[in-house]
Amino acid sequence: MASRRVCLLGALFAVLSVAIEGHSASSEASVASKARRQLKEEPNPNDGYDYMQHGFDWPGLQEGGTTKYPACSGSNQSPIDINTNQLMEPSSRSGTSAVSLNGLNVDGAQADGITLTNAKVDLEQGMKVTFDQPAANLPTIEIGGTTKSFVPIQFHFHHFLSEHTINGIHYPLELHIVMQEQDPADVATAQLAVIGIMYKYGEEDPFLKRLQETAQSNGEAGDKNVELNSFSINVARDLLPESDLTYYGYDGSLTTPGCDERVKWHVFKEARTVSVAQLKVFSEVTLAAHPEATVTNNRVIQPLNGRKVYEYKGEPNDKYNYVQHGFDWRDNGLDSCAGDVQSPIDIVTSTLQAGSSRSDVSSVNLNDLNTDAFTLTGNTVNIGQGMQINFGDPPAGDLPVIRIGTRDVTFRPLQVHWHFFLSEHTVDGVHYPLEAHIVMKDNDNLGDSAGQLAVIGIMYKYGDADPFITDMQKRVSDKIASGAITYGQSGVSLNNPDDPFNVNIKNNFLPSELGYAGYDGSLTTPPCSEIVKWHVFLEPRTVSVEQMEVFADVTLNSNPGATVTTNRMIQPLEGRTVYGYNGAAA
Ligand SMILES: [Zn+2]
Ligand SMILES: [Zn+2]
Repeated sequence: MASRRVCLLGALFAVLSVAIEGHSASSEASVASKARRQLKEEPNPNDGYDYMQHGFDWPGLQEGGTTKYPACSGSNQSPIDINTNQLMEPSSRSGTSAVSLNGLNVDGAQADGITLTNAKVDLEQGMKVTFDQPAANLPTIEIGGTTKSFVPIQFHFHHFLSEHTINGIHYPLELHIVMQEQDPADVATAQLAVIGIMYKYGEEDPFLKRLQETAQSNGEAGDKNVELNSFSINVARDLLPESDLTYYGYDGSLTTPGCDERVKWHVFKEARTVSVAQLKVFSEVTLAAHPEATVTNNRVIQPLNGRKVYEYKGEPNDKYNYVQHGFDWRDNGLDSCAGDVQSPIDIVTSTLQAGSSRSDVSSVNLNDLNTDAFTLTGNTVNIGQGMQINFGDPPAGDLPVIRIGTRDVTFRPLQVHWHFFLSEHTVDGVHYPLEAHIVMKDNDNLGDSAGQLAVIGIMYKYGDADPFITDMQKRVSDKIASGAITYGQSGVSLNNPDDPFNVNIKNNFLPSELGYAGYDGSLTTPPCSEIVKWHVFLEPRTVSVEQMEVFADVTLNSNPGATVTTNRMIQPLEGRTVYGYNGAAA
């Protein structure tokens, strides 16, 4: 109890230090007493405003004889009511393009997806979540002829009454993902873009469940910056609508003072669902931190003042499953999946051609990748379908180099993941039980979603347990047993005190015989981009039945109802040549 009181006082102190900013404080005690006095008048945690009138009073607030928030009485304010009978065609909007969600709409487990890591939550009104700002695969909007990238900064919730209404109707919950233009000249005037997501009453939301449970077990009422451990957020799965990405776009403002009119709004049409019990947590958290607060934190609807609202039809959603092992991806408008240079393929060892006869690739040099010294550190793991290790730090040592056309392309390993029970590639028509893919990207174009990739495929046959997989799986099960991580989480560190979870490609992945098949192919998941130089090693490592069982357990605990196998079916060769290297040619 004592520690709880200390926590609360600390939180109030932090809250009110905002309200009294600019005043000099002679001692902590006087600040605290002043804080208590102000709390009585201003039950909300905000900068001298509250939700008692849902913002109706903000334009009139005075400080030192002047209007405190003049922008709040502007003519382009948010939120608004969205009348779906009066939506405009995007082509009639001048100066603002549709938003390209890019990595925001790609599963964070993919190389070009965005995962928000190192998340922290404020157990305050609105449960604001902050995180490390992603640097690549950012969404873009063309504004006034200039394409700007937008960095997600934070997200928060408006509960019991959504801020925007659609045809006059409030939803019980609205999420705002706040994004700021990358590298602005001045943060105070930077262009902002906000994504609004509605929730209707229904099933409990799995992400909100994870967020609320972790926040409540790690923090106390009113705490700021509650660590969510290795908790990370996959925007496409956790925050965006499930299937339809249609949204309403318009020019508006911040919905809290100063109400700056520099926001491109994107309010999505399809609602996610939230349960009554989950909404109750929002009110409990708010009232525990601020007993006199209004639980609703929505600003009243603002006049449109002649502004237009545009309807942007949803891009085809990148969500996919393995129910048909990818056979359906060809028909579902999933980008390149119907192309002629697709992966995986069957590798017919008797037909492998000499690597020296390959016209576009004249040499492959593993360099330090094939040494004990090439250690990948700072790794995080996704504990879900197809367990993936994301390599954190730039590796020391010489990166592998492939001469493609006239250019020596240097490749940096980004991640490794496994396909289990059925390998993706087959060798002479036969599947292996396990295939690892080490994904490497052109080191000079890491931020380009069309940048050249090179993937190393490693096969495993049944036999002795693989020591590296044993170590990884033990760390995962220990941390799950201790409650430090949960199934389905991504961005998890498996480091133990004094025993970091590092990866050495040579010792942990490469077989002793380095013969491999090389060919031009694609990503084996949507968007199936045909940008991959494949290197499938032909000598398998070994994996035990018990290790395979752990992969299945992790998948089913993370995605109940998922197909455990995550292989795309074999694709037609369409006349491509497959080459043999290091003695593997026929
Ligand atoms: Zn908001
Ligand atoms: Zn793969």
